[in-house]
Amino acid sequence: MTHPTGWGLIGASNVAREWIIDAIRAQPGGEVRAVLSNDAGRGAAFAQANGIAHHTTSLQDLLSRRDIDAVYISTGNRLHVEQTIAAARAGKHVMCEKPLALSVEDASEMVRVCNHAGVVLGTNHHLRNAATHMAIHGLIEDGRIGGLIAARVFHANFLSAALQGWRVNDQDGGVILDSTIHDIDTLRFLFDENPVSAFAMTQSGRLARDGIEDGIMAVLRFPGDVLVQIHGGYTTPFSPGGIEIMGERGIIVGRDCMSQRPIGTVSVRDADGEHEIPLKHHNLYHRAFGLFTSAIHGDGRPAATGEDGVASLAIALALRESARTGREIGINVP
Ligand code: NDP
Repeated sequence: MTHPTGWGLIGASNVAREWIIDAIRAQPGGEVRAVLSNDAGRGAAFAQANGIAHHTTSLQDLLSRRDIDAVYISTGNRLHVEQTIAAARAGKHVMCEKPLALSVEDASEMVRVCNHAGVVLGTNHHLRNAATHMAIHGLIEDGRIGGLIAARVFHANFLSAALQGWRVNDQDGGVILDSTIHDIDTLRFLFDENPVSAFAMTQSGRLARDGIEDGIMAVLRFPGDVLVQIHGGYTTPFSPGGIEIMGERGIIVGRDCMSQRPIGTVSVRDADGEHEIPLKHHNLYHRAFGLFTSAIHGDGRPAATGEDGVASLAIALALRESARTGREIGINVP
């Protein structure tokens, strides 16, 4: 169904330029009406390069526009809280980038204010929209490999020079809040559960400033004594991304599936051999913005809700806390 939906972009960011403007315009009736940047020149250049009619440096100016129904927030991570709360109070629906905030308290407040204002809050965890992960979820749900025992996630790569800004220099960067948080969301989606505890060791100093992690090896314990190992990082060129889920009767193997692009394969290995699961790939962000658009027009929920964003942040911060203290950290998702 066509839903005319006017969008404002809060943040003249790389991810908006590369993926999200296209995803908004892929929705019937989806239009990008304005962009906010702190820098008037950068905002003007971004608007012109991307065919956006209006640009502004004032959040109030953008939020007071009556032709904007929803905003997409992709500014620096420490700005998401106040921008989400301001947008909700102005009656705009919010698709916010991860991490929703830098503390669980702030992220929970974002959810509370959006609920109170009657607007939809989505978290842009793209991976749960991938055909690969949707297929893996179905296989687990159907009991194809029996009861779960363990899993491994490989999501380490090499951060391109163009992306070596805040990710490796700022305290709100680092691989956990940037990338491992997506793995956490994917695991929550696949298992339909939250982990109960976390342990992590991190690396720093190869690409990131000291004190900001550029590599992580982590273990999450899920209910039922299911252990999950995660490797994430910015410093290892040529490493393939993937996931393996081990059950009592077989293994699900996902290859090249920790990607923003619609790629990858899924197979099941069991007593009958190895079988590749047929997949019909689609653009992950098109699906995410499609579900979000339906949700703001009263139909269904975003792929990842605000509550999902609070949960992924709580678990990501538990990993950071474990790396800092050297202890296994119990997780209480609010
Ligand atoms: P960028 O670094 O491209 O943009 C972040 C902010 O930096 C922008 O809001 C912009 O400020 C400012 N900025 C951009 N270019 C410049 C420049 N040349 N000089 C000075 N400032 C600049 O960030 P990303 O697109 O990589 O990430 C943005 C958010 O999106 C983060 O929260 C990140 O975690 C998330 N993200 C999510 C992804 C996903 O797939 N879900 C993928 C990648 C990122 P201003 O708006 O004021 O111009």
